[in-house]
Amino acid sequence: MGFPIGMGPPGGFGGFAGQTQNTGLPFAGIPPEYAEHVDALLADEEETPIPDVDFDQVDPDERPFTLRSFLIPYRFRFAVAVLLIGFEAILLQLGPWLLQIGIDHGVYRSNFTVLQVVVGVYFAAIAGHFFVARRRIQFTGRLGQQLMKGLRVKLFTHLQRLSLDFYTREKAGRIMARMTSDLPAMEQLIQEGIISLATQAMTLVVVSGFLFSMDIRLTLVVLIGVVPAMVALTLWFHRNSSKRYEAARERIADVLADLQESLSGVRIIALNNRQDFNIRRHRAVIEDYKDTNLSAARVAAVYGPAANFVGSLGQIAVLIIGGYMVYSGEISVGKVSAFVLYISAFFAPIQQLVQLHNTYQQGQAAVGKIRGVFDTKPSVPESSGARDLPDIRGEIRFENVTFGYEARNPILRGLDFTIRPGETFALVGETGAGKSTIAKLVTRFYDPQEGRVLVDGHDLVDLRFDSLRRQLGVVPQEPFLFAGTIRENIAFARPDASDEQVVEACRKVGIEGLLDRLPQGIDTPCHERGVTLSSGERQLIALARAFLAQPRVLILDEATSNLDLKTESLIERALDTLLEGRTAILIAHRLSTAMRARRIAVVAEGRIVEIGSHTELLERGGPYALLFETWQRHGGHSRESPADQA
Ligand code: ATP
Ligand code: MG
Repeated sequence: MGFPIGMGPPGGFGGFAGQTQNTGLPFAGIPPEYAEHVDALLADEEETPIPDVDFDQVDPDERPFTLRSFLIPYRFRFAVAVLLIGFEAILLQLGPWLLQIGIDHGVYRSNFTVLQVVVGVYFAAIAGHFFVARRRIQFTGRLGQQLMKGLRVKLFTHLQRLSLDFYTREKAGRIMARMTSDLPAMEQLIQEGIISLATQAMTLVVVSGFLFSMDIRLTLVVLIGVVPAMVALTLWFHRNSSKRYEAARERIADVLADLQESLSGVRIIALNNRQDFNIRRHRAVIEDYKDTNLSAARVAAVYGPAANFVGSLGQIAVLIIGGYMVYSGEISVGKVSAFVLYISAFFAPIQQLVQLHNTYQQGQAAVGKIRGVFDTKPSVPESSGARDLPDIRGEIRFENVTFGYEARNPILRGLDFTIRPGETFALVGETGAGKSTIAKLVTRFYDPQEGRVLVDGHDLVDLRFDSLRRQLGVVPQEPFLFAGTIRENIAFARPDASDEQVVEACRKVGIEGLLDRLPQGIDTPCHERGVTLSSGERQLIALARAFLAQPRVLILDEATSNLDLKTESLIERALDTLLEGRTAILIAHRLSTAMRARRIAVVAEGRIVEIGSHTELLERGGPYALLFETWQRHGGHSRESPADQA
């Protein structure tokens, strides 16, 4: 938040170089006309190396995140900043003091040498201030940005490390809010808060020093008479305005929420003829926003002039009392002039320090929320002694596994089965039976509450994530595509794959047809989540991704469910080659897909109720036979065509 309207330094003299930076607008790229200048500026900038972060290991630094722990590593640079700021304040505040010497020793004694020296020193001081201030602003700006960059990387790294359950619990929007509203609030605290605090405090110290060195009694008049009035006024303003600014922020959130809903629901709104209603509702929220803003402006409208009034009163008081003191020969004219000038230099910091309290509170609230994220530890951690999984044959064993997303409510109960190396193993069963959950345990998205999951005899809990997941490939039920080209999406697991390999993978899953249809072929950009492609096309791309990665163990969760039968049979032929010698878990509702597996397991209510080959299970006449019969009756196709059976 910038400074409210009307809040400037009071009085006309000794203008206070505003150093608050406005951090309001989002970055929208560098306009071309500035590009050259920006390049020139960047040429001076030191290179910041790409941070080296370890994504696998849990952060060894277990201290809770506080403002202090965050700033401590930068304490020396902060000390340099404070030194620079102090130097800057002295140079800036030298003016009235020099004026006093000029008047008392130059003008009054008609000593032009003194006057010339004073003018020379004054000039040197303002030139020096220009130079020091420029360096200091560069230095603190860079320091602030480095701090924030460090924090952003740390937070992002932490988010990447967290386990899947965190993302199920937390709404993506709230995580985004951490990044888009809490980080900027902290940035403000650091940039405007801490650095401005140092500047204001140093100015107060320097000005007090100058005042005391000139006349103790007049200084006490200022400190006792004028400063409390200024502090009281500013506190009043702060108390009244912060509530209103808070309310204004809430109201603008309402405006945005209403806008967002109207935009995203625009089709439904049009279909239901709700435009008029929406316009009226939006007008009402805008009205509320305007009202809160106006009431905040009313408070600011009192404060700005009142602060000027108090400041000027202070100057008048100093003029009267100082004038009498000059008259009785207790003080020189130059000193009184310097005092009058210094008063304004004294008030700006008081106003800003009170204002800072607000920034500080918001910043602290943000620190608290960010700490909440850091305090969340991965629920599926990589153990400290985790080993690399050697190249596997692909045996997967569930040993008496019980698992529930919430421990109280088990989804899988006492699962005990082995998938042999190189075997194609199908999981079938009703919706919600727990098939995808089994797949999530194999990839160790979750740990079982009881029992173990083993790959080639290695307990997953003891393995390094990267070595495990490198050998597993998953085509999930809802494939996710990233913003980028189709080529990049296919090569996601193997960014180093050559063009021929990518094209070969496409050929295998038969998406050349699709690529021919697209304007730029394989280099056609996909939108985020692949919204511009059909569900089936997304599945094909996800399959091509798995073909290219050639993992030892492949999990296909309904990977062909959205394809037409012709494409599916085409893919299934391709799968036969891909799956040769690999372990595969096929999850399928279409039993024609499941039938191809060497063994089929029927999952019901979190248990495996039957395992066997298609023919065995049919002969047994159990749940699978029932499932198969239902499926066939509802138009499923089997080895015999439905027409034959009729
Ligand atoms: P489908 O055939 O519809 O894909 P599925 O057999 O794959 O079903 P799962 O996704 O394994 O079913 O879900 C099993 C049960 O676990 C369901 O009752 C579901 O509601 C529940 N479940 C799934 N994911 C979560 C989650 N993240 N948190 C809590 N419960 C979950
Ligand atoms: Mg599923």
